[in-house]
Amino acid sequence: EDKIYLKGFRSWAEISKERLLNNVEIIYRYTKKDILAVVKADAYGHSAEKISKILEEIPYIKYLCVATAEEGKELRKAGIKKDILVLGGILPDEVKCFKEYNLVPVVSDFNQLKTVKENHIKKVHIKIDTGMHRLGFFVEDILEIINKSNGIEIEGIMSHFPSADTDPELTERQIDIFRKVVNNFRSHRIYPAFVHLQNSAGLMYDCDYCNAVRVGISIYGEKPSSFFSLPVKTVMSVKSKVITVKRLRKGETVSYGGTFRAPADMKIGIVAFGYADGLPRELSNKGYFLIKDRKVKILGNVTMDMTVVDLTDVEDVKPMDTVTIVGKDIENEIYFEDIAQMCGTIPYEIMCRISKRVKRVVV
Ligand code: PLP
Repeated sequence: EDKIYLKGFRSWAEISKERLLNNVEIIYRYTKKDILAVVKADAYGHSAEKISKILEEIPYIKYLCVATAEEGKELRKAGIKKDILVLGGILPDEVKCFKEYNLVPVVSDFNQLKTVKENHIKKVHIKIDTGMHRLGFFVEDILEIINKSNGIEIEGIMSHFPSADTDPELTERQIDIFRKVVNNFRSHRIYPAFVHLQNSAGLMYDCDYCNAVRVGISIYGEKPSSFFSLPVKTVMSVKSKVITVKRLRKGETVSYGGTFRAPADMKIGIVAFGYADGLPRELSNKGYFLIKDRKVKILGNVTMDMTVVDLTDVEDVKPMDTVTIVGKDIENEIYFEDIAQMCGTIPYEIMCRISKRVKRVVV
């Protein structure tokens, strides 16, 4: 399969199995806790199916976490047997899917708890809002949760950090609040198998009373904060091809809108990667790729299927040559973080934007 990209795919993403396995092992050794691996949004653009097939073999990975029942269904249809947790909760029109595909919901309010109860769903994780103010029961609801969930197994209790990368004070406060929540459940003789709070950025905090971590970006090898100390490595490299090499004369402009004008005679390359492949259009006249380990600047506006680059100082480039959009070429590497910074966003978004047209291959 590793040569598939030579067979008609203009752009492809190489998923390094070795790096993925290494990253989860680094996290496991560091935390000594079970891992609930977040594979929602097509595993942050990596292919949920391919990532899950690799991760489901690992015994200390206890759950695959998706955002919606529909995503869970897709994994079951792909043959995934591991337990699947649906982080986004359960809505009435999703009940059938939960039951048919054996999915476990995260329940975050009394409407959801009612849906679970009325439809005889047996097992849930309960989410408590400790400061994100998105999903989650209020801390003061615990007794009512316990009362209303008799007959349902509370297999997990969880909360979520909104700012573990930027706000240690809030994060420590949440850790404290959640500790009290866990103790409160225990005082009512509820001992969930999984107590989980930390996301990737949260790994840098001590949550001694939790026995599992719920991580996404770090297993894909991106550091979630400036103080994240684990040596994880980028799992996905995105590659494309040169279609054409041609000249651009002094004074001529390039691409839609003619936003780049050649200051002198130049050599340019047309690369088979555009915004429909997931390249942010914000990189127009700003970003760069690697060709033969050289940085080549993007000229003019990124178009739907192609991008123009400056090859004036790069020798011997020809059609079919490989272009590195993200990842390592020979010595040089472009990180998702580099692109995110140029676009004023976060690496998560850049990963998720790599589109379906880009063939994923496990290498
Ligand atoms: N838990 C929940 C509820 C999430 O929504 C996410 C991702 O957004 C994660 C865990 C994983 O976060 P990260 O990718 O930062 O590790």
